[in-house]
Amino acid sequence: MDLKNIGWIGLGKMGIPMAQKLVNAGYSVTVYNRSKEKEEALRSLGANTAESPAQLMQQAEVIFLMVSDDEATRQIFTGEQGLLSAQTTGKIIINMSTVSPGVSKLMASLCQEGQNHYLDAPVSGSVKQAEEGQLVIMVGGEENIFTQVKPILDQLGKLTLRVGETGAGNSAKLAINTLLGFYAQGLAEAIIFAQQHGIQTQDLLTLIGNSALGNIFTKIKGEAILANNFPAAFALKHIAKDLRLAKQEGSNTPLAEVVQNTFQEAESTLGEEDIIAIIKHLNPSI
Ligand code: NAP
Repeated sequence: MDLKNIGWIGLGKMGIPMAQKLVNAGYSVTVYNRSKEKEEALRSLGANTAESPAQLMQQAEVIFLMVSDDEATRQIFTGEQGLLSAQTTGKIIINMSTVSPGVSKLMASLCQEGQNHYLDAPVSGSVKQAEEGQLVIMVGGEENIFTQVKPILDQLGKLTLRVGETGAGNSAKLAINTLLGFYAQGLAEAIIFAQQHGIQTQDLLTLIGNSALGNIFTKIKGEAILANNFPAAFALKHIAKDLRLAKQEGSNTPLAEVVQNTFQEAESTLGEEDIIAIIKHLNPSI
C-alpha cells in the first residue's frame, strides 16, 4: 500500500522541522496544532490544515503526533474533537512524543477497538537532527504495521529500529534520556569543577572535544555555555518530565535518583530554558 496522505499533530520545536521534511519529500501533509499561528510555517510550504484532530483523522491515512506529554496525547486521542471521535477505521497513528509506555498501551488498545493501529516511535536527537532528517527513531508495536510506515519514518531519521511491542519504543527512549540527564549534569559539573581550578571553559571543551568523550551534544551545549545563552532546543521541563516518567517506570539506580532530583528542583525556575541551563542551577554564579 502506498501511503501518501499524512496528518501531523504538534508543531512545536520538533514538530515543525519534522513535518516540513515530509512536505519536502512529496507527501500530502495536513497539519493541526492547538495554537493555530504555528501552522503558518507549514501552510506556506503547501501543507493543508485541519480544524481538529477528528477532521485530520478523516483526511489522512497515517497520523503523526509530536506533542509534549501523556496529557497532550490523551486529549488529542480522546478529547471532544479528538482522533477517536472521528469513528474511522484502518488508520495508522504514530506517536513520536516522549510519553510513558502506559499511555501508549492504553491508546493502542483504544485504537484496536476502533480497528485502527498505534505505534510508539519516540526520537533521539534534537532540532538540528530533525531539520537534517538525522533522528534516531525507536519503535514499539505491530511488526507488519511498522514495515508499512518505515519508508515514511526513514525520511525523518538516519536509523529507524523496531525494538518490541507497544510501549517498547517509549521504554528505550526513557533509558536514553536517563543517560542524557546524567550526561548534561556531568558536563555541567565537569565545567564547574574546572572553572573552580582556574581552567578556561573553552580550553576544557577543546580537550573534551578531542577526547573519547567528544560528541555533538558537548559541542552544541558547550557553545551555549560559552555564550551564557540557553534558548530551549530541548526544554529543561521536558527532560524533567522524562526523568519523572522513568522514575514511575521503576528507574531507581544511584545516578538516576540524583538526576531526577536535580532536574526536578531546577524545573520551576529554568523549565523553559534549554536542558544545559542546569549549569546555572548547579552554580548560580554562572
Ligand atoms: P514543544 O516545542 O514544547 O511543543 C509541544 C507541542 O505539543 C506543541 O505543538 C503544543 O501545542 C503541543 N501540546 C502541548 N500540550 C497540548 C495539549 N494539551 N493539546 C494539544 N497540543 C498540545 O516540544 P518539542 O520540543 O517539540 O517536543 C515534543 C516532544 O518531543 C516532547 O515529548 C519532547 O520530550 C520530545 N523530544 C523533544 C526533543 C527536543 O530536542 N526538543 C528531542 C527529542 C524528543 P501549542 O503550540 O499549542 O503549545
